[in-house]
Amino acid sequence: SPPILAGKRGLVMGVANDRSIAWGIAKACAAHGAELAFTYQGDPLLKRVKPLADQIGVSTLLDCDVTDAASMDAAFDRLRTEWGSLDFVIHAIAYSDKDELKGLYLDTSAENFAQTMHISCYSFTEVCRRARPLMAAGGSLLTMSYYGAEQVMPHYNVMGVAKAALEASVRYLANDLGPEGIRVNAISAGPIRTLAASGIGDFRFILKWNEYNAPLRRNITTDEVGNAAVYLLSDLASGVTGEIHHVDSGYHTVGMVAPDSAPQ
Ligand code: NAD
Repeated sequence: SPPILAGKRGLVMGVANDRSIAWGIAKACAAHGAELAFTYQGDPLLKRVKPLADQIGVSTLLDCDVTDAASMDAAFDRLRTEWGSLDFVIHAIAYSDKDELKGLYLDTSAENFAQTMHISCYSFTEVCRRARPLMAAGGSLLTMSYYGAEQVMPHYNVMGVAKAALEASVRYLANDLGPEGIRVNAISAGPIRTLAASGIGDFRFILKWNEYNAPLRRNITTDEVGNAAVYLLSDLASGVTGEIHHVDSGYHTVGMVAPDSAPQ
């Protein structure tokens, strides 16, 4: 049988380097037969993203900052011209001032609250709105969340609030676009050492805590996120929308850890 994503075209947003979750997803999608385009956040990132794109035969690289509506329009216009249609989009983008990814959530500034919400939540809605006209034959839209949306995690603060809003928007978007055969889902990934994660206070401890206490007793990889993404983006998941799918070694299922399982 043909590869699961054969004949499908997808846009990957959020590759910054070879540790990015978006890169893990892109590799898996390419391995399963998809044709891809990448966006990147401005020229300084292009020198990192281009060699990765070359590795998997991606030639369409689009400069796109999600806070700049004109650059979002230009990226989707290019896709309309080059491809005419689109089968899936991966949104793996988030940002918050790292000075507020420590200390109290209570002290979040209005400016950083608005910017965190804009980049980490609203941008997905804007992406979906722009993808819709290219998905006349249906499609699959995927974003990335974290357990801090559901429960308090140390230092996650305003990002947890933004991820809660993102998860709620996945459900609203799924309902808006479902009648058109467009599915909208999120993967809630366990902690992974990436550029974005390096801004989170005590991240090394969070990784250790997950490793010791998750049912699988280890952390996950971006390749594992990629494999789950392939399922959600493919027709194998044709009945799945509005879902928050955990790829976290089962961490979210644990209510109280065993007294002897904490990191030493
Ligand atoms: P990363 O730093 O590799 O990726 C973050 C991406 O966001 C970068 O490519 C960056 O260029 C992009 N970005 C930020 N602001 C942008 C803007 N204004 N316009 C366009 N792009 C912008 O880190 P990552 O961990 O791979 O993050 C990807 C997604 O996964 C994020 O939504 C993150 O919250 C989520 N996530 C990460 C973890 C983790 O532990 N690393 C866990 C769960 C969820």
